[in-house]
Amino acid sequence: MTGSLPTVILAGCGYGAIEALRTLKGQAGVIAINPYPYIVNSGMSTRLLSGRFSLDLVRIPLLEHIQANRAEYVQGRVTQIQPQAQTLTVQTERGLQRLVYNYLLVNVGRELRPIEGIQHAFTIRPAEQLLAAYSWIQKCWRRAAQGDPTPGLLTFVVVGGGCTGTELMGELYDLCQQMSRETGIPLTQARFVLINRNRSLAAGIAPEGDNRFSRSIEAAIRRLGVEIWSECQVKALGPEQVWLADGRELVAQTRLWAGGLQAPQWLSEVGLPLGSSGGLLVDEYLRVKGSEQILAMGDCADFIWGSPARLLPKIGVYAVRQAPIAAQNLLRLIRGQPLIPYRPQATAFVCVTVGNRIAVAKKGPWIGRGYLATVLKNLFDWLYMRRLKPVRWQEFFY
Ligand SMILES: Cc1cc2nc3c(=O)[nH]c(=O)nc-3n(C[C@H](O)[C@H](O)[C@H](O)COP(=O)(O)OP(=O)(O)OC[C@H]3O[C@@H](n4cnc5c(N)ncnc54)[C@H](O)[C@@H]3O)c2cc1C
Repeated sequence: MTGSLPTVILAGCGYGAIEALRTLKGQAGVIAINPYPYIVNSGMSTRLLSGRFSLDLVRIPLLEHIQANRAEYVQGRVTQIQPQAQTLTVQTERGLQRLVYNYLLVNVGRELRPIEGIQHAFTIRPAEQLLAAYSWIQKCWRRAAQGDPTPGLLTFVVVGGGCTGTELMGELYDLCQQMSRETGIPLTQARFVLINRNRSLAAGIAPEGDNRFSRSIEAAIRRLGVEIWSECQVKALGPEQVWLADGRELVAQTRLWAGGLQAPQWLSEVGLPLGSSGGLLVDEYLRVKGSEQILAMGDCADFIWGSPARLLPKIGVYAVRQAPIAAQNLLRLIRGQPLIPYRPQATAFVCVTVGNRIAVAKKGPWIGRGYLATVLKNLFDWLYMRRLKPVRWQEFFY
C-alpha cells in the first residue's frame, strides 16, 4: 500500500499502460515498469525502414505520462512474479529489486523467436534495428554505385511471411526504389527474396478457408519483382548467408529477421496458467485464470473467444481495445465493483503496406487494395498518436 492507497504495478508498458495511468490517477499508488522511458508503436515502426517515419515519431513519451499521472517509474525488466507473496522481481541497472503489489497488470508483449545467427540480421525489435537497416541499405547501394563487387551487395532478404515480414518487404522495396533513382543503378539489378515458412503470406489473419487477403498481398508483392520462397524453413543466418533447412544457401548482404514472436520465456516459470501460445491464460475480464489480483492483456495474454473457441490473434488492434477494459477492471477491483467483460470486435481492421505507397486492408469480409488503404492506415495511426503526444498530421501522410 502507498499511504492508504493500494499499489498497482504495471509490469511492462504496452498498449495498456497509459490508459491505466490515466484511469488510476489518484485512486492507487501506481508503479510502471518498462525497460525504456518510452513506448514504441510497433505498427508504425516498419516505416522506419523506408525512412518515411522517424524514431521520434513512432515513440510515445511514457515517462511524461507517468509523471503527469503522479505514478512512479522503475526502469527495468520483470523477470519473475511470485503470486502467493504478491511480489515481483525486476532486473534494473542497480541489480534485482523486489516490489510488492496489491494488483498487477502484466502487459509485456512478446519477444523475438530466436534463430541461430540472429546477430547477423536486422530484427524487427528494437526499432533502432530498423533504423540501422535503413542506413545500411543506403550504404549498400552507394557502394554498388562505386563498383564494389561484394557478392550479394544488392540482394535483400526478409525472413518471415507474416504481416510484419511482408510489410517490411514493401518498405524495403520503396527504399531501394529511392536508392536506385539516387545512384542510377536500375532496380532490376537488385534481388528481393521473401522467405516464408507457410504456404501463403499473412496467413493466420483471415478465417480458415478464406485466403483472399493473402492472395491479394501476394499478387502485390510479386508485382514488385520479389521472389517469394514459400514453405521454406530458414535454419541459420551467417555474416553474409541465409541457410535453409533443405541445404540451400543464399548470399545476401542484407538480412532482415521477422521470423515471429513468442511469449516471454520467463512467463512459463511463474506458476500461473498458460494458454496454447504460452501467454497467460485470461478470463473474459482479462483476469489471469484463478487469480483475483492479476490481469494480463495484449500479446502476452491468451484470450479464448468465439464459437468454435479460438485464440485471439496477437495484433495491436485488439490490444488497443483491451486497454480501457483492463484499466477499468483494475479500478473496479480496487473499489470492489463487478468487473466488465472484454468482447473483441467482430471485425478488426488489418492493413499491410506492400510497396509503392500501396496497402492491402481487410475488415471482416471487405478487402481493399490501393493508396486509399495506406491513407486509412496512416489516419488510424495519426488518430491514435495524437491522443498521446503532440503530432503534426503532415508527418503521417505521404
Ligand atoms: C514490427 C511490428 C509491426 C507490427 N505491425 C502491426 C500492425 O500494423 N497492426 C497491428 O495491429 N499489429 C501490429 N503488430 C503487432 C502489435 O505491435 C502487437 O500486437 C502489440 O504491440 C502488442 O501490444 P502489447 O500491449 O501486448 O505489448 P507491446 O506493444 O509489445 O509492449 C510491451 C512493452 O513491455 C515491455 N517489456 C517487455 N518485456 C518486459 C519485461 N520483462 N519487463 C518489463 N517490460 C517489458 C516492452 O519494452 C514494451 O514496452 C506489429 C508488431 C511488430 C513487431
